[in-house]
Amino acid sequence: MSAPMNGGSPRYNPLESMNRRFDAAVEILGLDEQFANVLRVPDKVVMANMPVTMDNGTIKVFEGYRVVHSVHLGPSKGGIRYSMDVNLDEVKALAAWMTWKCAVVNIPYGGAKGGIKCDPRSMSKGELERLTRAYTLAMKNVFGPENDIPAPDMGTGQQEMAWIVDEYSKIKGHNAWGVVTGKPLVLGGSLGRVEATGRGVMVSTRSALAKLGLKPTEVTCVVQGFGNVGSISAKLISQMGVKIIGISDVTGGYYNTDGIDVNAAIEFIANSPNRNLEGCNIGKKVSNAELLELECDVLVPAAMEDQITPENAHNIKAKLIVEGANGPTTAAADAILQEKGILVVPDILANAGGVTVSYFEWVQNRLGYYWTEERVNRRADRVMKQSFDNVYACSEKYKINMRIAAYVVALEKVSSTLKLRGSF
Ligand code: NAD
Repeated sequence: MSAPMNGGSPRYNPLESMNRRFDAAVEILGLDEQFANVLRVPDKVVMANMPVTMDNGTIKVFEGYRVVHSVHLGPSKGGIRYSMDVNLDEVKALAAWMTWKCAVVNIPYGGAKGGIKCDPRSMSKGELERLTRAYTLAMKNVFGPENDIPAPDMGTGQQEMAWIVDEYSKIKGHNAWGVVTGKPLVLGGSLGRVEATGRGVMVSTRSALAKLGLKPTEVTCVVQGFGNVGSISAKLISQMGVKIIGISDVTGGYYNTDGIDVNAAIEFIANSPNRNLEGCNIGKKVSNAELLELECDVLVPAAMEDQITPENAHNIKAKLIVEGANGPTTAAADAILQEKGILVVPDILANAGGVTVSYFEWVQNRLGYYWTEERVNRRADRVMKQSFDNVYACSEKYKINMRIAAYVVALEKVSSTLKLRGSF
């Protein structure tokens, strides 16, 4: 735990959490320090200050980052986040997590991440479009179908990806569909991409429940965060027969031991002016902190970083945690969860369904041939199931938890590529 270097969370630093797990994997593998040193730092950090004309005619300067962590396995891949919490350490951690995530699911990508410090909910569509185009222009020499391929993350979605593809294509003078993934279908998006991350969380949950000898129809689940990842995870996990007894978003948590109607909650959000759960009559109101400590079998943190910490890890009752969000557990909390015997399916495995289908989208763009949703889902499910089994087998081999096992699987792959290739 330390003070953040760039104004992020006041107490935890996701980069420090990532580094602690990385160092543990380096030690288990006995990786030569000269190779570890290459992978400990990002390949490239680009920062841009972008002046944008706001609707009232004033000019506001926004701070944006793109961090490319590694290109050892292929072009770098990673989302773009719009949030007031964006800071360089957070983007560096998220970029490295993308490297490890792509390696865990064995897709030919390196890792990157981008972020703009802004509050997208307080900006008009026109302001968001001008900001996204300014960011694309600033990153025109970083992005590229063969270089670095962004995707959506918190605060961004299909519309931002459409603006990026348009701006980048304008700069290059031809349609460059493969420069981003998570695009709308009509602009070369893939069927199944919107649901892909939540679907991977569901597949991971199913695999983990089987390892624990628990039947989906006999367990309860709580999901924190009800955006793309949280809402779809909740929907698909409930379709397995699991009873969802708690959900939450930025407005707070909702708890109902009789089970929450997830589809009704999704519909409520779609029709709510602020696109949140405020006023949704689906259960007893609890705080997000209380939600994490509810009596349940499965906990899916799917909101943001640093939610499970040494302060609350002791009070968590779930037997299984499946990390939909990136970095929801701090490194210091890992040991407490392990001591309590809680099985944790780590972020770089559990939420890798999104980048897997992003990879399928990029492949389809390059082929100019588009798959059915059934084919996308079948292939993604297979990747997720195999990756879970690989990581689980590694955890048994080294007698380590699944988080460190995922880092070991990833680091083994990236470092062996680095050794064969040399320095690039
Ligand atoms: P999103 O913006 O669609 O949703 C975020 C959700 O979290 C919203 O419901 C929001 O209200 C809620 N939230 C925000 N602050 C909260 C708080 N303090 N307490 C509780 N809830 C809070 O974002 P998303 O795309 O669903 O991403 C969620 C997480 O999953 C992030 O960590 C992201 O990096 C990760 N992730 C996303 C994808 C993807 O494909 N979208 C893929 C992999 C990982």
